[in-house]
Amino acid sequence: MQLYQEQTLRISNSLTGKKEIFKPINEGHVGMYVCGPTVYSNVHLGNCRTFMSFDMIFRYLRHLGYKVRYVRNITDAGHLVDDADEGEDKIAKKARLEKIEPMEVVQRYTVDFHYILDQFNFLPPSIEPTATGHIIEQLGIIKEILEKGYAYEVNGSVYFDVKKFNEKYEYGKLSGRKLEDMIANTRELAAQSEKKNPQDFALWKKAEPQHIMRWPSPWGDGFPGWHLECTAMSTKYLGETFDIHGGGMDLKFPHHECEIAQAEASNGHSPVNYWMHANMLTMNGKKMAKSTGNNILPGEIFSGENDILSKPFTPSVVRFFMMQAHYTSILDLSNDALLASEKGYHRLMDAIDNLKDLPTAEVSNFDIPEWRQKCYDAMNDDFNTPILIAHLFEGVKHINLIKEGKEKITDADKVLLQQTINDFVFDVLGLEHKTESNQDSNKLQGVVELLIQLRNEARSNRDFATSDKIRDQLSAMGIQLKDGKEGTTFSVS
Ligand code: AMP
Ligand code: ZN
Repeated sequence: MQLYQEQTLRISNSLTGKKEIFKPINEGHVGMYVCGPTVYSNVHLGNCRTFMSFDMIFRYLRHLGYKVRYVRNITDAGHLVDDADEGEDKIAKKARLEKIEPMEVVQRYTVDFHYILDQFNFLPPSIEPTATGHIIEQLGIIKEILEKGYAYEVNGSVYFDVKKFNEKYEYGKLSGRKLEDMIANTRELAAQSEKKNPQDFALWKKAEPQHIMRWPSPWGDGFPGWHLECTAMSTKYLGETFDIHGGGMDLKFPHHECEIAQAEASNGHSPVNYWMHANMLTMNGKKMAKSTGNNILPGEIFSGENDILSKPFTPSVVRFFMMQAHYTSILDLSNDALLASEKGYHRLMDAIDNLKDLPTAEVSNFDIPEWRQKCYDAMNDDFNTPILIAHLFEGVKHINLIKEGKEKITDADKVLLQQTINDFVFDVLGLEHKTESNQDSNKLQGVVELLIQLRNEARSNRDFATSDKIRDQLSAMGIQLKDGKEGTTFSVS
């Protein structure tokens, strides 16, 4: 029997606005699609939050015993600087500025994306398709939508006819908008616009001669509209209707609304049963974003090299910080919040270390099976990681009391406690306990302190050749010594 048969998972469905019991289309299997990054710059911590929320969701679904096919794409074409189908392709623009090939931009930032996610201990998705690898599928969907009469061609571009679509279907049902209101609130189209209505969006755009990223099509050379790739890739790998589609809240409109419209227009039915939206990471109370410069890179957090930080933080501490908030809540990043998470993370890891050597007794004071179920109840309630963490700390409290001899635990309960902590801390939350690297850094500290002591002795013997040699050679290795009133300290770059 699989765990999912014992546990009732509820998911907040953005489409209905309700928390619903999760029922996959095929028993025991889950198809999940998450919009991936547009690889034109380094991934910032805000992007990482959304992907981490879905990594945790992927992990919990797997933990429950589901066979999950998790598709997270790479957007390497079609995402324009301006969301209203105008302006340059973000990747082509970067390539022009850096005087490199668009595919060099894609390669550089795809590698960065994977490297960062790896440091955060993400599980790789089952399939990571690219937009440029699915041009043929995208052309196929455009043809279908044209045949059904929900798109029109103008001068080598193809646009989705939102008004026509809205006569039979409901454009705006995901974001809770009404087409009439959208029309009332938009200005008239500029005279040069090819669109019939401002709400229409591009399925295919004609490539001007200077546009490098171009593919042949029945309407001439061009490139696909941004929303289309996700419809093409999700349909190809998960089917016309699949279980879960996720992304950041900011993608709900227009991106996901357009995905629904494209799927319904081409095959007549709704593509997704559960729409899930992760909330934003903010900094100084404002959304973290590439475009505004209000962002921080994961590397800056790991090295501590950013003015808002007093020190570096490890990937696991940052991951713990993220998991302390529910994925649908806004989370604000600050040095104080990270310091508090670091304390909590160490308290949890110390308890895990102590757990191994806990003495056992004939009786337990703490009802472990009940506590274990509370951990599941938290996760079953729309992946409520902050409540789960509160229960884990309840476990920590008892571990500490047992260690101090103030409470007791049986052998069997100790095994269950250990298994539950391992399941939730490492498998579901994806935290890592890097004792080896902690030990390494303790060793490094000891060695450098010894060298500082030898350098001080050399200096007091006026042996400056030796003292300088120690300082310079450490510096060449990236270890800087700093002499101050309180003595010599060091930093590692
Ligand atoms: P992009 O690379 O811009 O297409 O964004 C990739 C993902 O990051 C999308 O799912 C966005 O919704 C998400 N995202 C962007 N900014 C933030 C933020 N400040 N907090 C959380 N997620 C974000
Ligand atoms: Zn998408």
